[in-house]
Amino acid sequence: MTPAAFHVMLKPRGAICNLNCRYCYFLSKVRLYPGSQFRMSDELLQEYTRQYMAAQRVPEVTFAWQGGEPTLMGLDFFRRAVAAQHQYRKAGMRVMNALQTNGTLLDDEWCSFLHANDFLVGLSLDGPRALHDAYRVDRGGRSTFDRVMAAARLMQQHQVEFNILTTVHAANAPHPLEVYRFLRDELGTHFIQFIPIVERVNDSGFQEGDRVTSRSVTGKQYGDFLIAIFDEWVRHDVGQVFVQIFDVALAAWLGQRPGLCIFEETCGNALAMEHNGDIYSCDHFVEPRHFLGNLADVPLLDLMTSEQQQHFGQAKRDTLPATCHSCEVRFVCNGECPKNRFAYTPDGEAGLNYLCEGYRAFFNHIDPAMKFMAAELHAQRAPANIMQVMARQDAELQHRFATAGRNDPCPCGSGKKFKHCHGR
Ligand code: SF4
Ligand code: SF4
Repeated sequence: MTPAAFHVMLKPRGAICNLNCRYCYFLSKVRLYPGSQFRMSDELLQEYTRQYMAAQRVPEVTFAWQGGEPTLMGLDFFRRAVAAQHQYRKAGMRVMNALQTNGTLLDDEWCSFLHANDFLVGLSLDGPRALHDAYRVDRGGRSTFDRVMAAARLMQQHQVEFNILTTVHAANAPHPLEVYRFLRDELGTHFIQFIPIVERVNDSGFQEGDRVTSRSVTGKQYGDFLIAIFDEWVRHDVGQVFVQIFDVALAAWLGQRPGLCIFEETCGNALAMEHNGDIYSCDHFVEPRHFLGNLADVPLLDLMTSEQQQHFGQAKRDTLPATCHSCEVRFVCNGECPKNRFAYTPDGEAGLNYLCEGYRAFFNHIDPAMKFMAAELHAQRAPANIMQVMARQDAELQHRFATAGRNDPCPCGSGKKFKHCHGR
């Protein structure tokens, strides 16, 4: 089966980065290429661009640049990349570039280029200073907060389109509203992605073992984090602030595909390419057992459609534990990413997602609001109408609290008497 489109996460400098974020899953990949210069050659850039564009049968293609830190390639490399895209693009094809960066090397010249060429930038920022600097430090262990904020301001000045990628970890997970309000109010961003840090303890840096580092978020923490932010968003920001997991969830409640691999039933349409043309099944599985081949030896499309890659993608569905099959939120969760499936179900079955508790709580929590917004969309009304509903419900609840007698059931729904609960 040849897909109409697929993605490749490009690593032009491999795992090389100017920072040393303590939870980074990619820095250890340098060990796969001892002695390498970690720099994509112009020949590989040309060949990749040619093959990638020829293989796509959709009107819009995206080049996804990541690392390590891709800006370490220098601006001229990206000028050549854009030139190659112009050279190989099919008639009528729209070309997009997505650049994930820590932002620390961006200057006026970079920002002019990014704006002029319509790059969509993902900027990594974990919240206000103390929460961001908890793990996102440079090679000397120093704070990176000011440099990242300067990059955000510079991109705003140059009208570069960017979204914020915030990882959720042990340090910032207990502070959901502090993180969200900082991004929304102080930074003024309208596009946010949350990525849970689940970092396994092992010496290989591969997806092995079932213990996690102390930096990792727990399932419960992640669920609580998302719920707190959703409760704020659904009251104030629908239609104004776009949080990726909320959008993905709404698509699922509308009966559409989520559009994000981790929540799809199957995956495998997002390869990763190292600096030397080595292709792996996924950015999260850059490790020998998921090596597909090198672009110099095998055409990209053949690697994408190989039996090994098909099997990789279908295993996401085929290895789902029984608990997930009977789960009320499987339609939106689908067991999330296989990289996190190293926990056990209550009856001892292996392969449950480590974050299950959080996802189950979160998706159940948002169910009424999602149903309402999906119904509004079906009726061709604005999903933002949910904010009026929430305001009415909150006012009613406040009234019930204000008028509850000491021996009445607590309006919070705990089942306890008011005097033993919120009335205490
Ligand atoms: S392994 Fe996870 S991140 Fe990779 S493609 Fe599958 S779902 Fe996506
Ligand atoms: S919430 Fe848990 S049980 Fe339900 S589909 Fe997701 S991982 Fe499986």
